[in-house]
Amino acid sequence: MFLKRIEMQGFKSFADRISINFEHNMTGIVGPNGCGKSNIADAIKWVLGEQSAKILRGEKMSDVIFAGSKNRRGVNMAEVTLVFDNSKRALNYDSDEVELTRRIYKDDQDAQYLINHQNVRLKDVVDLILDSGLGKDSLSMISQGNIQAFAEARPYDRRAIFEEAAGVARYKKRKIEAINRLERTKNNLERTYDILSELEKQVGPLKRQAKRAETYRNKKEALEAIETAVLVEEITLLEDQIANFNTNINELEVKIENAQSGIEIRENQNFSAKQEAKDLEKKINDDSSALIKTINEIQVLENRHKEQ
Ligand code: ATP
Repeated sequence: MFLKRIEMQGFKSFADRISINFEHNMTGIVGPNGCGKSNIADAIKWVLGEQSAKILRGEKMSDVIFAGSKNRRGVNMAEVTLVFDNSKRALNYDSDEVELTRRIYKDDQDAQYLINHQNVRLKDVVDLILDSGLGKDSLSMISQGNIQAFAEARPYDRRAIFEEAAGVARYKKRKIEAINRLERTKNNLERTYDILSELEKQVGPLKRQAKRAETYRNKKEALEAIETAVLVEEITLLEDQIANFNTNINELEVKIENAQSGIEIRENQNFSAKQEAKDLEKKINDDSSALIKTINEIQVLENRHKEQ
């Protein structure tokens, strides 16, 4: 992974905005003592998330802000940006160039972190660079003190240094995370066992309760089946009775109809008989009148005959 550029403003001795481009495989920064060479290394460590003011050779974190010199006043903000060539995706970030920025203000101790101009958390920066083996505990930056320590190290310790240089740091972090996760899982497992043993105590009574509930449910179902069968039987009987009643009603209706027809016939016969009687009565009256008339005429004739 190639560091293309460092941009700084207000960081330690770099009061003005400055941009340092790295264009070759190896770049040397030379200058007299105290001119600010180590400040560049500090700037890199700072952007990569260094949280110790002491490691940055200060008392407190705001000491990284340009404090002023004999010719100019101090400033209120320090900002450093590292620009990486990410065309080979050494950093897990989908962009050919990755800019990491850290910014701090004098009156606000909370630093701001940016990845490609987007505000992020320190954790995001640390996670991004750890994956690339560039973490602050890795050996991608070796200070003067380190070189002396390497030279004097025992073979066993030196092996550790080589392992570190081979990019073991990120795996170390992952190992610690995995151990922590394992520990948490162990605790969870223990808690789960506790809960399990508690639950196991409840299994016996619960089993008995479940059995009783099962028996109750079976009996309830059987009762419901019997009640349903009884109801069906009752309904069938009632339906038969209704059918019988309907048949009887039909028969009675036919009988009533027949009786009504008989009554009607009799009424008609009655009416005709009455009419006939009336006619006979009239005839009798007429015949009686004719008889009386004839008797009178006979009387008259007899009287006339007697007189002759
Ligand atoms: P050496 O070769 O001795 O290690 P160097 O070139 O690495 O020196 P640095 O230690 O990086 O130099 O820089 C030290 C200079 O930075 C000093 O002059 C110091 O006054 C200046 N300096 C450090 N912090 C600040 C600050 N906050 N404000 C202004 N100047 C600062």
